[in-house]
This record gives sequence, C-alpha cells and structure tokens, in this order.
Amino acid sequence: MTFDVDLFVIGGGSGGVRAARIAAAEGGARVALAEESRMGGTCVIRGCVPKKLMVYASEFPAEIADARAYGWEVQAGSFDWSRFRTTLEAELDRLENAYRGTLRGAGVTLHDTRAVIEDAHAVRLATGERITAKHILVATGGRPFVPDIPGAELAITSNEMFHLPALPRRALVVGGGFIASEFACILHGLGVATTQYYRGAQILRGFDDEARGHVANAMQEAGIAIHCGTDVMRLERGPGGIRAVATDGSAREFDLVLYATGRRPNSAGLGLEALGVQLGRKGEVVVDDFSQTAVPSIYAVGDVTNRVNLTPVAIREGHAFADTVFRGVPTRFDHSLIASAVFTQPELGTVGLTEEAAREKGPIEVYSAAFRPMKTQFAGRPERVLMKLIVDQASRRVLGCHIVGPGAGEMIQLAAIPIGMGATKEDFDRTVAVHPTMAEELVTMRKPVRTG
Ligand code: NDP
Repeated sequence: MTFDVDLFVIGGGSGGVRAARIAAAEGGARVALAEESRMGGTCVIRGCVPKKLMVYASEFPAEIADARAYGWEVQAGSFDWSRFRTTLEAELDRLENAYRGTLRGAGVTLHDTRAVIEDAHAVRLATGERITAKHILVATGGRPFVPDIPGAELAITSNEMFHLPALPRRALVVGGGFIASEFACILHGLGVATTQYYRGAQILRGFDDEARGHVANAMQEAGIAIHCGTDVMRLERGPGGIRAVATDGSAREFDLVLYATGRRPNSAGLGLEALGVQLGRKGEVVVDDFSQTAVPSIYAVGDVTNRVNLTPVAIREGHAFADTVFRGVPTRFDHSLIASAVFTQPELGTVGLTEEAAREKGPIEVYSAAFRPMKTQFAGRPERVLMKLIVDQASRRVLGCHIVGPGAGEMIQLAAIPIGMGATKEDFDRTVAVHPTMAEELVTMRKPVRTG
C-alpha cells in the first residue's frame, strides 16, 4: 500500500517538531505536520520561554536594590507591562518563525490547521483534506486543568498570563506545583501583592522536603503570603474584585485569580478511542517504551502521554521515536534521573532521589549546607542558598542533589552529569573547588548532617 506521507505528526510542540525533523532530515522520510495553534507549542508560546522571560523581568527590583547596596545611584522606577508584553510577543514571533524555518529546511510539509485521526493510516484536516500516512505521531501536549468550583470562570490559567491587559494590584495563585509557585514569585517580583493557596501541607510536593521548605520560607520572607492547607471553595464577583471564599473560612478579594492546579493531556476528540488506542485515567495516551500505542502505526510522545511532562523529555521521546522508526535504531528513552529546575525565586534545581525517597531504599548519608552567598550578603539580603547531596552508604554513590539559590538550574545541569555516571561522594570530594563560587560547596561538604 502506498501512503501520501511516511509520517504525519499532529502537534507542533517540542516533541512533534523534533520527531518530524529527525524523521525527515536524518531518516529520509516524507513528513507532514499539523498544528492548530502556533508552531512551537506550550513551551515556546505559553510556557517555559515566556515564563522564563517574565522571571527575568521580575528579578530586576531585587537586583536594583542590590546595585544600590553596591554603591550605584539607581532607582527601580515603575514597570511598564505593556512595553514588556510587546517585546515578548515579538520574541515569540521570532521563535515561532525559527521553528517553521527549521521544519521547512528539513523538508517537512506544514499544515496550519487541526488534524484528527480517521483510521490507523489516515488523518483528516479541518480543511477537509484527507492525508494517508504509514505512521502517525500524536504530540498534542496538554492543557491547564481547573477544578469544577462555583465561579471557576472568573479565574485564568497560565495560558492567559502572558496576555494580561494590565498587571493586577492583588493576585491569588491557587496550587502548589511548578506553575503556581513560579507565577507567585513572578507576580510578586513585578510588584503585585501576591497570595498563594495550596491545599496540602507544603508547596512543591514531590521535591526534597528540606529543599521545598527552603524555597517556601524564602518566598514568604520576600513577602508572598503562602497559605497551606487552604483551598478555594468558590469564587464570586465582589464589590472591588474577585472574592475567593476559602476552606479556612476567609473571603478575600483579588483583582486576578490564577489557577495552576495541574495539566491534562490533549487526547480528546482526536479519534483515538474509536481506533482502540488506550487512554489512561487522566486521558493520557498509553504507550510502550518505544512510544508505540496499542495500534501499531500510531505513536505518541510528550505531555499527551503524561510520563514526565518536561520539554527536554518530549524532545528526547520524539527523537527516540524517529530513531526507532525511521533510522533503524531502536531507542528507548530512559526516564530515570531527569534533572529539572523550578524557576521560583530562589530557584530550585534537582536531580536524583530526594532524602525521603533515598532513605526508603537503604541507609544514606545526607550532606547539606545552607549559607548566605557572597553577592547578596554584601548587599544585606537575608537569603540563604541550600546545597544538598544524598549519598548511598553502601556504594558511596551520590543518589541525589538538590540546590536552592540563584543559578540553581544552571548548576544542577552540570551536577546531573557525574550523578548520571554513578559518581561517588569521594569523586565529588576529589574535585578541587572553584573559588569563590556557591557551587564549590558541592565539593567541600565533609561531614554528613544526618545518617541512617
Ligand atoms: P503540578 O502537577 O506540578 O501541580 C499541580 C498543583 O495543583 C499541585 O499543588 C496540586 O496539589 C494542586 N491541585 C491539583 N488539583 C487540585 C484541585 N482540584 N484543587 C486544588 N489544588 C489542586 O502542575 P502544574 O500545573 O504546576 O505544572 C504542570 C506540569 O508542567 C508540571 O508537572 C511540570 O512537569 C511542568 N512544568 C515544568 C516547569 C519547569 O520545569 N520549571 C515549569 C512549569 C511546568 P497536590 O500537590 O495536593 O496534588
């Protein structure tokens, strides 16, 4: 049987774009890709990239305060949100065009429209066109989930955060995960009076307890009102804003309520169930180690599979798929030991096991140091950096590393290399410090603070 294309990719985000490019450019495949929104997907258009630029924007007031402490005659002045937003939009346009250029350069045919799967070897575009394909890759990502509470329509999600007409005066962020915590810090940094409600005991569940406690304390000391054990029961219009009636009995008013209560896979309405593709409890496409679904010609990568929902993971899954199917190199992507960073202020970088998870597996040694870094200590800021290593007593291998502080994302990327290679604590100790830095603490912690 002949097909119009060898591969049809649905979704032009991180995973889909990588798979399409490798299949076409390195696998010699005839590839088409459909994207109903903007090329680049969540990460580029409404996620990591604009978020990180907002983080940068929000860090300046503290940096300007530091500059004054260092002797500079400067004032922060006011923040021009609309100027920032215009520059941000231009930057996203540039990136989107770069994605298009890369795909076109690789010979991928782009369809700026929605595609749904019609049968195991065919997709139907919203334009009515039917395209047959030897393989179909579902890379449709995810979308924000907002619980069904009364007044939920008064809240916005991270999708809308980048298009606000103006910055609010008072904001409530609901949730305690990556997105909620990052936006709480961004809003606070931009001068918004920020409150965060989280239903659990401590924000950033799943991260090392000491590290997330460190982040939460720093956020609170900076002035973010974090209310743990608190959830919104209903939202209603108040006289001067949106009133959030909460489980702690309070009814506070805000100008903006941001829900960051998780994301769900974009798998509905694609025609998957009818074909026998299995979906999980949250709607995730169930795949094997090679990202293949129960229908052999259909694969899925990235957030729609709800494995580890991070851009670099989607990219690696997409690459492994293309290697397997179009380059004759069967490749499983290993989901263990993935380093990641939460761009709160201070940042949290993490790789490997938390202290709590490591202890469940056997006796460990914990090396941990909290200290005031030179740059901000000089400026009189109270912030402390946390450096932490978890070591397996028997093998001496470093099982986990957790860093809280400026540049933690950059540092953890490098720490992930030796830890992935199986480095021992003695390998770290043998490494000569780079002085004066914060990261030198990783190779100079001599005595465990806890064992067992
Ligand atoms: P997370 O799953 O990280 O956090 C969701 C938060 O919402 C949790 O605190 C959860 O509470 C809470 N929650 C869930 N359901 C409800 C509910 N019904 N009512 C009240 N609270 C609720 O999701 P995010 O949206 O923050 O992020 C989605 C994913 O995006 C992340 O998992 C991450 O993989 C990725 N991401 C990565 C970033 C990075 O690498 N820096 C940045 C942003 C996103 P509980 O803990 O009790 O379940």
